[in-house]
Amino acid sequence: MTSFPHLFQPLDLGHVVLPNRVLMGSMHTGLEDRARDFDALAHYFAVRARGGVGLIVTGGFSPNIQGWLKPFAARLTRPWHRPRHRKITQVVHHEGGRICLQILHAGRYGYHPLSVAPSAIRSPITPFTPHALSKRGIEYTLADFAHCAQLARGAGYDGVEVMGSEGYLLNQFLAAHSNHRDDMWGGDAERRMRFPVAVVRRVRQAVGKDFIVIYRLSILDLVKDGQRHSEIVALAKAIEQAGASLINTGIGWHEARVPTIVTSVPRAAFAEISASLRQEISIPLIASNRINTPEQAEQLLATGKADLISMARPFLADPEWVNKARSGQPQRINTCIACNQACLDHVFENRRASCLVNPQACYETELRIRPAVKSKHIAVVGAGPAGLACATTLAERGHRVTLYEQTDDIGGQFKLAKRVPGKEEFGETLRYFHTRIKETGVTLRLHTQATVSDLNGYNEVVIATGVGPRSIELPGIAHPKVLGYAEVLQGAPVGPSAAIIGAGGIGFDVAEYLVTADPCLAPEPQRWMREWGVDSTSDAPGGLVRPEPPPPARKLWLLQRSAGRLGTRLHKTTGWVHRASLKARGVQMLGGVSYVRIDDAGLHLRIGSEAKVLPVDNVIVCAGQQSRRDLYAALQKQGVTAHLIGGAERAAELDAERAIDQGTRLGARL
Ligand code: NAP
Ligand code: SF4
Repeated sequence: MTSFPHLFQPLDLGHVVLPNRVLMGSMHTGLEDRARDFDALAHYFAVRARGGVGLIVTGGFSPNIQGWLKPFAARLTRPWHRPRHRKITQVVHHEGGRICLQILHAGRYGYHPLSVAPSAIRSPITPFTPHALSKRGIEYTLADFAHCAQLARGAGYDGVEVMGSEGYLLNQFLAAHSNHRDDMWGGDAERRMRFPVAVVRRVRQAVGKDFIVIYRLSILDLVKDGQRHSEIVALAKAIEQAGASLINTGIGWHEARVPTIVTSVPRAAFAEISASLRQEISIPLIASNRINTPEQAEQLLATGKADLISMARPFLADPEWVNKARSGQPQRINTCIACNQACLDHVFENRRASCLVNPQACYETELRIRPAVKSKHIAVVGAGPAGLACATTLAERGHRVTLYEQTDDIGGQFKLAKRVPGKEEFGETLRYFHTRIKETGVTLRLHTQATVSDLNGYNEVVIATGVGPRSIELPGIAHPKVLGYAEVLQGAPVGPSAAIIGAGGIGFDVAEYLVTADPCLAPEPQRWMREWGVDSTSDAPGGLVRPEPPPPARKLWLLQRSAGRLGTRLHKTTGWVHRASLKARGVQMLGGVSYVRIDDAGLHLRIGSEAKVLPVDNVIVCAGQQSRRDLYAALQKQGVTAHLIGGAERAAELDAERAIDQGTRLGARL
């Protein structure tokens, strides 16, 4: 018996039966590009196969050099590439899993001068203009896809996924704005569809019948002149005819200016679109994007919206996701909070992916949590992300751990973050740590401000006392209209107009909170679609219509002293979403300001030589953080050695990724 009967129903694909309805979607980790990283990559997949996932898809491998994502990026093009791939397939099969290779031709998204595309039109997100493929070039490319699939079969993969979404080469053929050809591969929608369909046909011919062929189909392009829904339905039918075993779904090209996977996108926001496509085809359809809990996945399957559920990042966060769901323990899942911070943001910075809530992800061979040689008695002070990660890792290893927290609950800065509209997922991490504290046996002392004498007698002391807001000096800073960000996020009343001093991550979060009429309203797909101009019901090109952002709850100014655009230091894959969301609701963002004073009239400032008064009801200070180290200093004075982690160690550029990573690593070492 399982609480998720639809999720754990096997799926018969004819030549193979998948044990459940969970697909680990393709995710580039940065380990794919170099042969020497394949041992670590194989280990990464083996851990996920052991975790019970029904079918795994690798990160993208190019079928030829022109299709590289970047110079010397992952490819499977030669027989001598096979042995490194066998390392992966062998360990996955040994763990009882199944794995498909994703074939990804980047087309004009290739970050190199050899890139090709249907037409020589540069994408807005790459500096290289691609070469237009000649007719012969198209034939060679088709042959390369087929050859790559054959090599994948030879390397022991159970199938391939043809990457036909996110704006890569196959999409570029499909959309009128990137395909200006007037030969048999371009022109009307039917001719633009020929290349992707030919790819699937050639791949199927190359691999035979008893091999999985997944086609990842863009069901919503979210770009101007993208495909219409009717064209997408026609494509799906043609792909089925051409021999695909499964259709996976993708949402939005990389150049789209609508967010598709960040945490502010409501869960399963695109499920209705998958559902409508499922009616049109007879092969199984896989739903994807912002599905991260077994409850959500079960509901989508039970209501017939999809046949399988694809999740990629949730398996970075918790490789045991499937086993925990199967055993009826979803509360034990370390849920992906869709922050992108340690996965996609790393990949875009050419760093190895990992996971904010699970620093072991992609570091399985390097960061091992082993039982302690000798059990020690350890105090951890502060139950923010760093302290929680450290305390639970120590206790998992067999140490006796007491965790001191001066407030009434665990979470530290996460308690504030989860109040920000679009960041509700942070609450899942707190639920996870509550469960972890219980299962690892950490003794939690809430409402307890640990003193030096409390910490006597422990073998080790860890100080994770976090950060407090930086106080700033400004005439009028004690005026009653001035509030700190923590007060605001905890519900202090704010008037109809406000100015925010400081435009870092927290300034943006506070702006989002204050501009939203009801910050406690649960995220809801239809409202979100209207806000971003997404229309899944009409036949609008690319699924785009005019955005209708909700009216702002108040007049807001977001300010910083540094010149230039605000929010440039926010994270790569999420910063633009915050900027666009605030801009759409009329938040005034001003850089290069000097603060002069605060009084009854408002906030006085200068921009260059111009003096200005912002006539605001409140001024909210979001001017960064300071480490809280009083206890650490007192311990040092007494000659007690302690380990300092998280924001208490370094407030500058503090974020939860560093805090959890540092806490886990110390916990694994002591
Ligand atoms: P931050 O990113 O360092 O930003 C601080 C802001 O305050 C800057 O805009 C800075 O710009 C301004 N500032 C600094 N000193 C000032 C002074 N003396 N007077 C006036 N303005 C001053 O800090 P944060 O926004 O507190 O974010 C901290 C970290 O938390 C970031 O790394 C972020 O990734 C992470 N984060 C956390 C949360 C959360 O919920 N806990 C949310 C989002 C982000 P100028 O100096 O140009 O004025
Ligand atoms: Fe999910 Fe954030 Fe981890 Fe990426 S870093 S897998 S988005 S929790």
